[in-house]
Amino acid sequence: PIWNLGSINIDHVYRLDRLPEPGATQAARSYSTGLGGKGANQTVAAARAGARTRHLGAMGQGDDWVIERIRATGACPAGIQRLPDEATGHAIILLDRAGENAIVIHPGANRAIDRDALRRALSEIGPDDTLLLQNETSCQLEAARQARQAGARVIYSAAPFDIDAVRQVLPHVSILAMNAGEAQQLFAALPGDLPVRGLLITRGADGAEYRDLRTGQTYRQAAFRVTAVDTTGAGDTFAGYFAAALDRGDAIPAALRLAAAASALQVTRPGAGDAIPDRDEVLDFIRR
Ligand code: ADP
Repeated sequence: PIWNLGSINIDHVYRLDRLPEPGATQAARSYSTGLGGKGANQTVAAARAGARTRHLGAMGQGDDWVIERIRATGACPAGIQRLPDEATGHAIILLDRAGENAIVIHPGANRAIDRDALRRALSEIGPDDTLLLQNETSCQLEAARQARQAGARVIYSAAPFDIDAVRQVLPHVSILAMNAGEAQQLFAALPGDLPVRGLLITRGADGAEYRDLRTGQTYRQAAFRVTAVDTTGAGDTFAGYFAAALDRGDAIPAALRLAAAASALQVTRPGAGDAIPDRDEVLDFIRR
């Protein structure tokens, strides 16, 4: 199974004629909400990929629809802490007519995870399991250490990039996953050998590669050719599918191919989490 310690954000999207100037007040043309956050997106991807998936994280009170939305993907939300004094993480997303955006994020409960409760929630992780992590929560170090001690595979998606977090967590990581921009920042900051088993680097429409640092072998996967309409969440789809495939025992080339197909389909649809396909759709797409 997959254990995903990950952020949960409620996205509030306001469409405007133009982004407001300081001091200005403006009515939005429309408003919508959705489930977002890199962690929640990766849980959706792993669950839709068919992995038994548990989400670990934190929210404030209320907003029970978020829990139901996660449950509806097949993932287990029992490891989500409900913190009485924190707001649920959220993003205020302003979009103008040209699609230009301005975004405010409040991490809230995502960064206030109760360490002891997390430790208890992870107490049953074992050697056949995978822990997924991103950088939008607190307690990544504690979780990674606990999972590795239990013999689990730890996949760390180092996004949003934060060199201090990476330095701390890396000694407890099996596979480090990044996009091309994050990889560039990582290699600039840490030029020497990395203490991990493998590196996954995604390169948008240029595909992805996995470097096995123990054998020196690099596996390359081309992107599937599609017409992208919204690439938000492509990396999360890739990470969740890749983790699910390895967790099931797939070899690297098969895992890369499945994840590339899933994220290619995902970018052909608007939205992030809601745009993530399930395994049957992905297998149909590969066969086409
Ligand atoms: P992130 O969303 O983290 O920036 P990338 O942009 O590298 O990540 O995208 C992750 C993966 O999604 C890529 O490796 C690729 O497989 C797929 N992908 C992204 N953009 C496209 C695209 N335009 N066409 C096909 N596949 C894409």
